[in-house]
Amino acid sequence: MEWFRSIPDETHHRAFLKDVLTLVLDEAVFKANRRGEPVIRWRLPQELLSLIDVQTRDQPASHEELLAAIKATIDFSVKTGHPMFINQLYSGLDPYGLAGQWVTDALNPSSYTYEVAPVFTTMEEAVLQNMRALLGYPDGRGDGIFCPGGSLANGCAMNLARFKAFPSVKTEGLHGLPRLVLFASEDAHYSIHKMAALEGLGEAAVRSVTCDSQGRMDLKALEAEIQVAKRDGVHPFMVVATAGTTVLGALDPLSAIADVCSTHGLWLHVDAAWGGGLLFSKEHRHLLAGIERADSVAWNPHKLLAVPQQCSTLLVRHEGLLKACHGRDATYLFQKDKFYDHNLDPGDKYIQCGRRVDVFKFWLMWKGKGSLGLGKHVDAIMELSRFLIEELKKRADRFKLVLETPNFVNVSFWYLPQSIRNLDPSTQIYRNKLQSVIYVVLATEFIFSKGHNFNLQVAPKIKEGMMKAGTMMLGYQPLRQWPNFFRFVTQNSGMTKQDVIFMLDEIERLGDNL
Ligand SMILES: *Cc1c(COP(=O)(O)O)cnc(C)c1O
Repeated sequence: MEWFRSIPDETHHRAFLKDVLTLVLDEAVFKANRRGEPVIRWRLPQELLSLIDVQTRDQPASHEELLAAIKATIDFSVKTGHPMFINQLYSGLDPYGLAGQWVTDALNPSSYTYEVAPVFTTMEEAVLQNMRALLGYPDGRGDGIFCPGGSLANGCAMNLARFKAFPSVKTEGLHGLPRLVLFASEDAHYSIHKMAALEGLGEAAVRSVTCDSQGRMDLKALEAEIQVAKRDGVHPFMVVATAGTTVLGALDPLSAIADVCSTHGLWLHVDAAWGGGLLFSKEHRHLLAGIERADSVAWNPHKLLAVPQQCSTLLVRHEGLLKACHGRDATYLFQKDKFYDHNLDPGDKYIQCGRRVDVFKFWLMWKGKGSLGLGKHVDAIMELSRFLIEELKKRADRFKLVLETPNFVNVSFWYLPQSIRNLDPSTQIYRNKLQSVIYVVLATEFIFSKGHNFNLQVAPKIKEGMMKAGTMMLGYQPLRQWPNFFRFVTQNSGMTKQDVIFMLDEIERLGDNL
């Protein structure tokens, strides 16, 4: 086999790419995501190694071998576009999004200068401005960047907030600065701690604010933490509020937190990585009231809006701050004597240099569906989640909600197998205490009892069952005092009520005998 040159040599390439495209459309897009097809074909690494020759070699492989390897790769990969992939904060396969990603990949630009990405840098500005307008920034003014994930968007926001308070940090680092602290709820995303460590603040700089019973930042606790920090002689500079916490989907009270921030002169960052998409919904956007007062907002269109990964943004109220904070004026990229206005180059606002274009897939979806279509997408998902709550209540003898009235998409619940349901049904005590038995048993006793630690096992066992059967993927986790519970989340507006019922039936089928 002759070695394969770059594209201008057209002889074999066209046939190869068509074969790959056909394979992808058949195996990864359409057939793969049909109901009844497996979400996953679970294999251990040793088994995978026998199915796919993962070693790279000196000799080139033939096209037949490559196509077979691509097919095997697709076969044993998780079908995240499948309606029963309800495992994570991304799912669904949007045809416009996929097409957009293909176009970007074919052009392979790097979005740092107007000169190499004229259309994409222009689209980035337009999309970021439209997103800021949705946030409620006047006329969509302000600034923004695309980020390689919400974690980095949060990190950039922290860096900006610190730079705004202490511009010397850019040149002198932490030298001469007071001990800086920020506040985030105990359910805030773990990236806040990660970024605090990365940026030299230290994890201990993140003061944890307790949540109320709904998982929202408790305002009194926030005020108290601010007072404690002031007494400690450290310097608070920022509050991170969360609009849609990762596990419970809680929406922090943004307006009230904004009041606290303006009283104390603190930067308000809203981590709306998960919840940001609500802004498209006329019916539900009120849930984010107050977000227009944020200094910065992290928003991942790749989550609720189901844009292909990755598509994350950081939107900032203050014009010019990103460039001032991150800029280095590299002379070989951002020449000041360009024949066009060098302010068209967005690259120096970023901490990255080369950067993949993430705007086009989102732009194409927004263009193709309109803001109305994206709003309907969000409404459909919210309706599905409300339907699930009703179904769980109908099955209250077997399922128990963690929060009775979740506000967002997330629905957290326990499954109670026969063994716990019928723990000792003859006794009056059990009958009287059914509620508290479930709570007490779930929350404490069984965690520690070795003999019958059912709650530690129920969710992981059911998960194992569904993975091995390939029927669905649904996430679980413990949180604070709550032992392992399932978290329903979807971003796939192609999911139906029948799918929700299938999910519950499947849990019962897999877990009944535990
Ligand atoms: C997912 C998530 C993040 C992180 O986003 P990535 O793109 O996964 O890095 C941050 N905050 C919240 C609330 C999230 O749900």
